Amino acid sequence: MRTTNHPLGWLALSVLILAGLPTAVQSQTFRTDDPVLRQMWVEGMENSQTEEMAQVLMDSIGPRLSGSPGFDAAADWLVSVYDEWGVEVRREEYGTWRGWRQGALHVDLTSPRIQTLEAKLLAWSPGTNGFLEGDVVVIPSFSSEADVEEWLSSIEGKIVLASHAEPTCREPQALERLARDATVDGLRQEREDRMRSWADRLGALGDHPHRALEEAGAVGIITSRWSGGWGVNKIFSASTEEAVSIDLSCEDYGLVSRLAENEQSPSIRIHAETEELGTVPMHNVMAEIPGTELPDEYVLLSAHLDSWHGATGATDNGTGTITMLEAMRILKEAYPNPRRTILVGHWGGEEQGLIGSRAYAEDNPEVVENLQAVFNQDNGTWRVDYIQAQGLLGASANLARWVAQLPTEISEHIELDLPGPQEVGGSDHVAFLCYGAPGWRLQSHYPDYRQYTWHTNRDTYDKIIFDDLENNATLAAMLAYLASEDPDRVPRDRAVLPTDPRTGEPRDWIPCRDPVRSWGR
Ligand SMILES: [Zn+2]
Repeated sequence: MRTTNHPLGWLALSVLILAGLPTAVQSQTFRTDDPVLRQMWVEGMENSQTEEMAQVLMDSIGPRLSGSPGFDAAADWLVSVYDEWGVEVRREEYGTWRGWRQGALHVDLTSPRIQTLEAKLLAWSPGTNGFLEGDVVVIPSFSSEADVEEWLSSIEGKIVLASHAEPTCREPQALERLARDATVDGLRQEREDRMRSWADRLGALGDHPHRALEEAGAVGIITSRWSGGWGVNKIFSASTEEAVSIDLSCEDYGLVSRLAENEQSPSIRIHAETEELGTVPMHNVMAEIPGTELPDEYVLLSAHLDSWHGATGATDNGTGTITMLEAMRILKEAYPNPRRTILVGHWGGEEQGLIGSRAYAEDNPEVVENLQAVFNQDNGTWRVDYIQAQGLLGASANLARWVAQLPTEISEHIELDLPGPQEVGGSDHVAFLCYGAPGWRLQSHYPDYRQYTWHTNRDTYDKIIFDDLENNATLAAMLAYLASEDPDRVPRDRAVLPTDPRTGEPRDWIPCRDPVRSWGR
């Protein structure tokens, strides 16, 4: 059910509830003779456990950065949930990563006035060992190499602003709605000018500008990676070894940088607790319901478990994780003795380059060889509305047949793109597709994902639309069932891919890459 943004819509709904009218408006029009699909619908749409499970994963366990205790805790939790359901589960070690724990962070402007700033620590940043206070300087525009050397010799003990400040922190769609065209164009131009100027400033510091800054004695590096919406920044990793690296909100970064550029002597105090945990093992969590007739053929449900750490990774990829976990619960209830083996992979290291799934594929060629289908989910909340057959010609017919058997409530939202072009990256299905296995993504196309929650400081539990999560988990369970029961093995013949404009020839099939199994390998 889509809710309206109009305040009167909420009011009207409240009035209905107050009047004691029926509020359970979920339509129950699904008609099928298939008792398994019927039971899956009831399990998924009426007995859903998605809210409870998502609350534990996002709120109590929290962010799941590769190598962090949060990732480990999430893997342990998944194992305990599957154990409780009586589903076979194991952690599979595929490599190691740099262990790091983020602790408390507090950042204040201390001059020319006191203000607490909205900050996030970049992943694997050094901490501050107590309080660190320093004057703030901005990387200037340089006119010569001598200029660069002279400036670098002046930054010992300083906190350096190392990215451009945004001319506005308003979301562009609001600006376009309310401002004059000339204003919108002017701001866009100003932003482009600033970005160009900053590319030059950072370029003058060499290939590793942040390292050059800390080598010159800077004690803190501050950047701001605005995500183009109200209150949202993307939070990635640090590239320093000594200097603390933090991200400031668009607004606070603009404030500090205006103070610095206008020589109003800003200084900042930072308290950042971090803990280096050495080299730690990394795992995938694999669970399975063994097949009864064709145990050596596999349907794989797939979603990465790791996340970035700026928030709690609710839509990247808490929702995918809960979708596949709940799908396994539905399958165990409604289809406990599948024809083919049903596997689920909760991968580590996706955010560092699909590491867990690529490693699994490399280590388990017999599984990859015998995959009937892979269904991966990794993009936010909202309903699955698009499945692309990824250039698999004959497999398109199987996929279309399965989708045709779904309840209309689920399938009416789904556009099939058969055989489709082919994605060149993106998520874990590619780790299998590259070998020619039918690896598909259950895609949700909604524009605000990249702007507002993807890798941002606002990717939190409250963003999850549970009606859609229930829909998606039921969809994943039903597709796994239909793929498992399909009398035919899904064929792997390939369509001729669209022309590559660089060569004028059809594009090559997506290549498999070696998984990066350790930090800095
Ligand atoms: Zn993701």
